[in-house]
Amino acid sequence: MIAQKNSIQYAENLDQQDPLAHYREKFYIPQINGEDSVYFTGNSLGLQPKSVKDYLQQELDDWAKYGVEGHFDAKKPWFAYHEFLTPKIAKIVGALDSEVVVTHSLTTNLHLLMVSFYRPTKERFKIICEAKAFPSDQYALESQVKFHGFDPKDAIVEIAPREGEHTINEEDIYKAIEENADSVALVMFGGVNYYTGQLFDLEKITAAGHKAGAVVGFDLAHAAGNVILKLHDWGVDFAAWCSYKYLNSSPGGVSGMFVHQKHEYKPELPRFAGWWGYDKDTRFLMEPGFVPMKGAEGWQLSNAPILGMAAHLASLDIFDEVGMEKLRAKSDQLTAYLEEIIDDISARKGHLCEFEIITPRNQKERGAQLSILAHGKGKAMFDSLTKQGVIADWREPNVIRIAPVPLYNSFVDIYKFGERLEKAIEE
Ligand SMILES: *Cc1c(COP(=O)(O)O)cnc(C)c1O
Repeated sequence: MIAQKNSIQYAENLDQQDPLAHYREKFYIPQINGEDSVYFTGNSLGLQPKSVKDYLQQELDDWAKYGVEGHFDAKKPWFAYHEFLTPKIAKIVGALDSEVVVTHSLTTNLHLLMVSFYRPTKERFKIICEAKAFPSDQYALESQVKFHGFDPKDAIVEIAPREGEHTINEEDIYKAIEENADSVALVMFGGVNYYTGQLFDLEKITAAGHKAGAVVGFDLAHAAGNVILKLHDWGVDFAAWCSYKYLNSSPGGVSGMFVHQKHEYKPELPRFAGWWGYDKDTRFLMEPGFVPMKGAEGWQLSNAPILGMAAHLASLDIFDEVGMEKLRAKSDQLTAYLEEIIDDISARKGHLCEFEIITPRNQKERGAQLSILAHGKGKAMFDSLTKQGVIADWREPNVIRIAPVPLYNSFVDIYKFGERLEKAIEE
């Protein structure tokens, strides 16, 4: 790296040229030591858009003014509130409107979708997934398998990185799918691995799974709002994601789900049903016998939590204005700059601490996040970063996960991070 790139002037210049720089003002940046923190955990909890207050206030006012009549009389009637979010989230994940719905929470949605799409038989019962998936996903898969009377040891095939490597070689995924072509029922991966930041080729995995006769689903918690997704075109069967990471829609906020058009009306699919998935034209006749809505809406159980949905809508309106293409372009630039800074520090200060970036170097195989192994340093170094106003994520024994988010992080944030990291390893 040219040393001059690791300078405040260089970073400020990049910010001046950044057409999305002003979006930072639309968010509250947590303050530490009397100034903006360097917030690199948007992959864990996205920051609050300043507009959220107005969106919530609208619903609080309508609730106060109308009570139950707000279901129909509110400015945005609650009865079909999710429909305000649908076209916006559909664009973010590359889906038709009828293929998505915002509802429930993520792990709940994964279970609901697996009830319909993981339908093991004696011959075909395996699930192929990534090793070290997010814990909630591991528990969901394990309990689904047991629910159907199978032993997770036989039914769950985990693809791990090769000996001495940190990320998964995609060839190993395709090989496992082929080797289990007679017994695989479901291929289920995280779109972006939460730990390594590895972005998988979802189109190719979908094609490989289908060729083997399996259903293919994705957990997009770390992918939605982070990378370009084309779920419809890729032919993905189902997917779910949360809204509180890159989508900035409040702690524990509502999730989204995707069901491909090819499954939009299959009343024969088993499902756990609730009244909000019932055909909306006849829902209030309240007759026995479940008649699902066509498309993803048919998987809804309950009437929507309007306050959480309103927070989500505030953020989706910002995404709608910017568009994923521009966000992804800035994201690539931000993360590449972060990578250069870390490499520069490693090159100059390797005797104190060598940083090994375990996230793929290829931009096509990663989103915003970099995961770095800090060889020779431990938690004390990370604690020093925290004291200096950096909010990042530490995983024992020595991994730092950092995610510059294109909506609100700046190039100066990255410069400051590097400066503080250098200080932390010198202490
Ligand atoms: C964040 C995350 C979750 C969290 O699930 P919740 O049901 O929202 O608590 C699950 N899976 C993955 C892959 C995640 O990254």
